[in-house]
Amino acid sequence: MGEYINVVETFGCDVFNDSVMQERLPKKVYKELKKTMEEGKELSMEVADVVAHEMKEWAIEKGATHFSHWFQPLTGVTAEKHDAFITAPMDNGKVLMSFSGKELIKGEPDASSFPSGGLRATFEARGYTTWDCTSPAFVRHDSAGGTLCIPTAFCSYTGEALDQKTPLLRSMQAVNTQALRLIRLFGNTTSKKVTPSVGAEQEYFLIDKEKWMQRKDLIYTGRTLFGAMPPKGQEMDDHYLGTIRQRVSAYMREVNEECWKLGVSAKTQHNEVAPAQHELAPIYAPVNIAADHNQIMMRILKKVASRHGMRCLLHEKPFAGLNGSGKHNNWSLTTDDGINLLEPGKTPHENVQFLLVLTCILKAVDEHADLLRESAADVGNDHRLGGNEAPPAVISVFLGEQLQDVLEQLISTGMATHSKKGGMLETGVKTLPDFMKDATDRNRTSPFAFTGNKFEFRMVGSRDSISSCNVVLNTIAAEVFKEACDRLEAAPDFELAVHDLIKEYATEHQRIVFNGNGYAPEWEAEAKRRGLPHLPSMVDAIPALTTEKSVNLFENFGVFTRAELESRAEIQYEIYAKAINIEAKTMIDIATKQIIPAVIRYTTVLAESINAVRAVGSVDVSVQLDHLTKASRLLKDVNTAMGTLKDLVAKIPANIEGRERAVYCREAIVPAMEALRRPVDELEMIVDKEMWPMPSYGDMIFEV
Ligand code: ADP
Ligand code: MG
Repeated sequence: MGEYINVVETFGCDVFNDSVMQERLPKKVYKELKKTMEEGKELSMEVADVVAHEMKEWAIEKGATHFSHWFQPLTGVTAEKHDAFITAPMDNGKVLMSFSGKELIKGEPDASSFPSGGLRATFEARGYTTWDCTSPAFVRHDSAGGTLCIPTAFCSYTGEALDQKTPLLRSMQAVNTQALRLIRLFGNTTSKKVTPSVGAEQEYFLIDKEKWMQRKDLIYTGRTLFGAMPPKGQEMDDHYLGTIRQRVSAYMREVNEECWKLGVSAKTQHNEVAPAQHELAPIYAPVNIAADHNQIMMRILKKVASRHGMRCLLHEKPFAGLNGSGKHNNWSLTTDDGINLLEPGKTPHENVQFLLVLTCILKAVDEHADLLRESAADVGNDHRLGGNEAPPAVISVFLGEQLQDVLEQLISTGMATHSKKGGMLETGVKTLPDFMKDATDRNRTSPFAFTGNKFEFRMVGSRDSISSCNVVLNTIAAEVFKEACDRLEAAPDFELAVHDLIKEYATEHQRIVFNGNGYAPEWEAEAKRRGLPHLPSMVDAIPALTTEKSVNLFENFGVFTRAELESRAEIQYEIYAKAINIEAKTMIDIATKQIIPAVIRYTTVLAESINAVRAVGSVDVSVQLDHLTKASRLLKDVNTAMGTLKDLVAKIPANIEGRERAVYCREAIVPAMEALRRPVDELEMIVDKEMWPMPSYGDMIFEV
């Protein structure tokens, strides 16, 4: 079974982390660098040169031959360009290994092939990557050998953000400034920094690679475009938290080891609701690191699967009718000295600072529900949100019994005088210890649930970066904190003013709170009555980015300019239209080259068999005839639906772009794809399995 690893020694062994820096850097340089990391002080070139040199020496010891600025453009995946450490050959024909401060700090990839949404004409190709020294560099080992990866931000020549990280860092600054003001009002003079902490739970599917290779839809689009439900799905609930299969256990073990080496604190793993679905969650970290780590984790999940003869599917909805995959973004605000602003304590009704923070967040989420919804918009997520297995597409906040009760007291009397307690858990078995329960039960259907001392935003798609939603969370929190601080700092009587403010926010924004079942059909109607935005599709959600309200919000806090927002909206529309176009073409391809020929073969065999049986004498062939008629009818349906889809794809007006094109795809092409899928899935249920041209759902999800 291979040898056992020493987790403590392995953890972070390939990361240029604080202890490596302390050990390797001259004291003065280390101090300077820490100042930059902690206080945002500009880094001098002399310091950068020393850091670069030490980083290179360390990386070479770890087996690195190349370095790479590692960044997250708006393509949804990470990007990198590798450079060897070598310098030009010397007279003796040998090379030196070098790496300068300049190379560490700044890179200049050609930006013209990355999405910019019109921010930069393609002839103005310059883009810069700059070192994010708050997220540690690491050496990654793969078939390319060792590569020193340097986390960077990616901007255009004129300083506009072309990536996920830049706005995330900007939003962290915004919420830090305002949250510090807020805690100062409550007498905290010691904390120096407030950082959003995030733990992102990652869901994924594992299937056999051989089967994956036979599914063109999975190869080209990441999800199955056809496929009938097997007799058994997830209804027995026997997969969730079930025993992990040996093949998958071996995989998870290797995933963990690779994560740990890179300092990714992979912690909790289990089987998820659908067969072949699993989850991995790390320990929470500052959000920019959590975002980087999530990207690293996704890459490891894929790479290790490949080594184990499997494929890791990160698509939000690989299989229709089965649970989709998301990413739960657990978010809180933590000071540098370890205080969590979302910790209610045992008696939340007495914790005025907590109540203010909480009601500020209610206001923020209520006012910008559309933006938060947009932050989780992703082509694949359209199949998930509102599908009764992921949160509905309406944003609401779950508070739980205890806080709901406190909130009601605040609203009705302006004062909260008591907090409900959890009580003892009694099992009725003497040998089992009784213990205090949590004051609040869980709720699985809420998109934004308070879970003890953090909020869990559950809408994010499994493939998506967690940056977008955290940019929104940080900035909307900053906005309301600012408003609250402006008012409280000017108030003659702080105690009085803060109580009034909490009551005001609680009263005015109680409509966003919903503690019931988010899957119930009544909720949709109720949400509409409350005036909460319902944005079922990505195309419906994108306009939220560029409303005057959100332009003001983001410009006020220096997170996005109007131009950056417009470009992001443009990119989103483009991504949507392109993805649907690829899916439609893949469907046409599979239907033409695989499904129709298979059904023709099947009907031919049936017809021949009918003739053969008839030739024997007066035998009843009605069953065969029945099948033949049905298959032929469905074959015709397939052909008709395919004709329609083909026409629509061919007719995508060349002159329409952006929003119009996305709307056309959503309104014309998506329904035509669904219409093609229906008869194909019906055919799968009647055609001889031996003749069906690809593995079935059952083959894929039960035979990993
Ligand atoms: P569950 O499935 O019950 O929601 P998990 O253990 O799967 O819980 O994941 C919870 C995630 O929340 C983990 O990544 C954990 O580190 C993270 N987390 C815990 N406390 C906080 C906090 N205060 N702020 C942010 N994230 C947190
Ligand atoms: Mg979980």
